[in-house]
Amino acid sequence: MPTGTASILDGSRIASQIMQEVAEKVRHLALAGHQPGLAVILSGADPASHVYVRSKLKACDELGIQSEKITPPDSASTEDLLQLVESLNQRDDVDAILVQLPLPAHIDAKKLLLAVAPEKDVDGFHPVNIGNLVTQRPGLAPCTPAGIIELLRRNNIEIAGQHAVVVGRSDIVGRPMAILLLNHHATVTICHSRTRDLAKVTRLGDILVVAMGRAAAITEEFVKPGATVIDVGINRITDSRHFNELFAGDAAREKTFREKGSVLVGDVHPRVAEVAGAITPVPGGVGLLTVAMLMANTVAAAEMRLENQRLQAKPNQKAKPRLGRT
Ligand code: NAP
Repeated sequence: MPTGTASILDGSRIASQIMQEVAEKVRHLALAGHQPGLAVILSGADPASHVYVRSKLKACDELGIQSEKITPPDSASTEDLLQLVESLNQRDDVDAILVQLPLPAHIDAKKLLLAVAPEKDVDGFHPVNIGNLVTQRPGLAPCTPAGIIELLRRNNIEIAGQHAVVVGRSDIVGRPMAILLLNHHATVTICHSRTRDLAKVTRLGDILVVAMGRAAAITEEFVKPGATVIDVGINRITDSRHFNELFAGDAAREKTFREKGSVLVGDVHPRVAEVAGAITPVPGGVGLLTVAMLMANTVAAAEMRLENQRLQAKPNQKAKPRLGRT
């Protein structure tokens, strides 16, 4: 890939392709008499969570997926939420359950995520689904890393044999990302806050995925010329000095900053576009794919459950190959 100005990996184009494919599957399920259903538990007042949930529910509406937002009172305890999850596990009209993170501090998030039935665990966070991912069995894979694989695949970016470096080891992004890249035959290195000489390691990456939650932390020195750079970070800049350091001369962003008082920036510095071969924008990159993959996982969960019900009704039949990503 020539260096100079990176090609932009447009998340919206791939997200809309995926949404069209999911819409087709929803139509098929409707013909079979089933409307997929997603239940979202939104607990607490985190403003970003409210924005994310709104966009997830809007996507459901667009596709004909039945959705339900449940907002427990602030006083709800872990025990209350466990009961809520258990009731959703039992409901036949709910194929997929999403517990929006972060949860309020008094809620035991790990316990709650463990209570979601693995076949309805649309975020792919349950240890059973993580185990399926690690052992390359079909299941529900976490949406953001699964979306990144789709972005690479659909842009014809080779994964097999490439050195992929992942910065971040969270359960949501970094770890499952590394496993998915390994499952696609990359040579994978995982970096985190204890990694020594981070730039020396990240410069090895033909594919560099950054999920640190540190605004514009990855500058040109961290990137191998011509590498594919996937910027997962979403950080809000409100300080005008910081804004000018990053975006002075960028007319579109200056307008947004003037009007809204803030702009979004990823974990990758804008100047990296001058050395990378291809790069995802923020916004307009990975974030849109996450929502599209959530829709894909909801429909995959519905399909898998219907197939299991069919098999239970006719125990002598063989299972069709199960859907889902590894
Ligand atoms: P997280 O749980 O805070 O994890 C951050 C990871 O980065 C940790 O593993 C941490 O290492 C590592 N890290 C932090 N500072 C570092 C440093 N200076 N050098 C090397 N590694 C460092 O964050 P997350 O949930 O994975 O999210 C990461 C970013 O992605 C955030 O900006 C988040 O908003 C964004 N995000 C976007 C989407 C999307 O749809 N686009 C989805 C999810 C998350 P340790 O483990 O050693 O602490």
